[in-house]
Amino acid sequence: LPFLLRYTDYHLFGTSSIHNNPPPNESRCNICDYEHQDVETPDTFLPLSPCFHWVHYHCFVWWISRIDERRDKCPVCGVTLFHFDEINATTLAARSNIDRENGEVPMYYDHDAKQLVHDDNSQYEVDCASITDHVAWYFQCELRLQTDQSHPPYLDLLKVFDAVLGRLQETGRPRGKWLSYGTLMGERLWDTLVLIKMMRWLEENAKEVVGSQGWVELEGKHQQLQ
Ligand SMILES: [Zn+2]
Ligand SMILES: [Zn+2]
Repeated sequence: LPFLLRYTDYHLFGTSSIHNNPPPNESRCNICDYEHQDVETPDTFLPLSPCFHWVHYHCFVWWISRIDERRDKCPVCGVTLFHFDEINATTLAARSNIDRENGEVPMYYDHDAKQLVHDDNSQYEVDCASITDHVAWYFQCELRLQTDQSHPPYLDLLKVFDAVLGRLQETGRPRGKWLSYGTLMGERLWDTLVLIKMMRWLEENAKEVVGSQGWVELEGKHQQLQ
């Protein structure tokens, strides 16, 4: 993989003959979700290499400048684009006049949640909504709690908890800085939110599990996190 500066200079700008001229189905920026010419300040619109997903150059620089483990990957298909390092990223951000982390490009399109994320608040909401989705999916589809009337006598809810956390992590959650795994507070808050949403789902959809052995263990885990 190329280093970031080489990637931008040779791979991104190496395709300059087709810049600003995307195929019809790629006319929206895959980061900000605006039509490519629909931005306040004119910007170069170009395809990422090697996957040919189109983005604004400034949106790209913003994307790679954030503290996010996916910043070296295409926002759409997740292919790794370049070898990330801090010095290259800082240099590129400075060269492009983008203050790192200050939100010069204040929004991006969260493809899983199908929602524009424009600040820490909406990122937090999208992260929380993704927990709700994953919890419901796991109980309904993986364990078939709603459709199968005869529940197993013992449901290992701590195992479910780990599985849901694992799936969320696979999809790159949480993305918001308040919930980030980088901090102990964020990690605890994230774990607590997952637990609470699991309990709420069970109370609403599978009451007979409430109070069971597995439930008591889950409550124990909840106390630990307080
Ligand atoms: Zn854009
Ligand atoms: Zn891509």
